[in-house]
Amino acid sequence: MRVGVVGSGVLGAAVADELVRRGLSVVVCTAEESLPPVTDLAFGWLNSHGSAAEPPSGARDGDEFARSLDALRHATATSPLRDVITWTGAVSWAPTPTATARFAERAGPGVAILEPEALRQILPGLRVPPTAVAYASDEGMVEPDELRRAFLARARAGGATVVAARVDRVRARRAGGYELSGTGAALVVDRVVLACGTGLPALAEQFGEHIEVPGVPAARFVFSAPELRLDRVVSTPDFEIRPSARHGFVGAEDVVPGEPETATRARARASLSAVREAFGLPREPVLGDVTVGFRPIPAGDGVLCAPLASAPGVVALAAHPGVTLAASLALRAAEQLGNR
Ligand SMILES: Cc1cc2nc3c(=O)[nH]c(=O)nc-3n(C[C@H](O)[C@H](O)[C@H](O)COP(=O)(O)OP(=O)(O)OC[C@H]3O[C@@H](n4cnc5c(N)ncnc54)[C@H](O)[C@@H]3O)c2cc1C
Repeated sequence: MRVGVVGSGVLGAAVADELVRRGLSVVVCTAEESLPPVTDLAFGWLNSHGSAAEPPSGARDGDEFARSLDALRHATATSPLRDVITWTGAVSWAPTPTATARFAERAGPGVAILEPEALRQILPGLRVPPTAVAYASDEGMVEPDELRRAFLARARAGGATVVAARVDRVRARRAGGYELSGTGAALVVDRVVLACGTGLPALAEQFGEHIEVPGVPAARFVFSAPELRLDRVVSTPDFEIRPSARHGFVGAEDVVPGEPETATRARARASLSAVREAFGLPREPVLGDVTVGFRPIPAGDGVLCAPLASAPGVVALAAHPGVTLAASLALRAAEQLGNR
């Protein structure tokens, strides 16, 4: 059976890897050059519990998140994915100790409130530690582009073909299977996974399926702070940061749709002033690039992994947060292809 995977962001790459591991013939079509994957701009927190700093999202599919980190550990246990992820856990706190405690209670066994001594070891540089700090010991961080490239490299090594071409049309063939056509040569496949982020609705529409995957902006910024001692994700009401082997440190910021770049940059600067204050740094961290990415977030609970009712053998896949969910959704998508 030959499967066409449209898209090589973290979801398409993880699916391609999983399908190859199951012995299928896989061709990945990617419009990476003209439509860069948002994956490469992500913050890189493998975050299954949420953050004490953010209001709980009632829409989250708890089971999917519970499976996601186990699936990632399993998928990255062998080369070339081994060591791509740093599993140092994540620390977060809310504006009040009560809210932090409530978060930890809601999150369950994976999250605990840190005793003062443990907090000193985990975040040694904090100047005035908050009264309650939650620690999700099973979470991790990753350079998202490295993760997706490693998935893709392993899929390729296992026989997958990667074609640098945008798919503009997906057509059911009378003889069975589908034809993918666009900027490259037409391809005939038996089944299809549409893992093309915000490009998914246009292809699903061709089967009469109306799917909404809007691109919701968020920013990643990089910064340097030579005196900052930090080896894990920290998420607070004032900043969300982590160390990065490549960039020094990275942070994530909200973006108000349509706001000018200067406003996003100003928010990143305000984050860094809060970092300086919290860690008692002798000087302001130096802000580098601020990049806005448009996160594909399917309507509803943010997770779409389902066969198209009108196109047997075509699975639509888009999710937020996609880096965290990539491995578990790759398993689900592969099962759905099998259960045609
Ligand atoms: C600032 C920021 C911070 C984030 N932080 C996190 C985080 O900490 N943790 C987390 O889990 N998630 C985070 N995310 C979300 C995460 O980046 C996305 O959920 C994830 O990368 C989506 O992956 P994807 O494969 O669906 O989409 P993409 O990475 O966008 O990939 C889509 C692919 O489809 C291709 N494509 C599109 N249309 C076509 C077509 N017609 N034909 C062929 N190819 C096509 C594109 O070229 C691309 O290769 C963050 C996002 C942003 C912007």
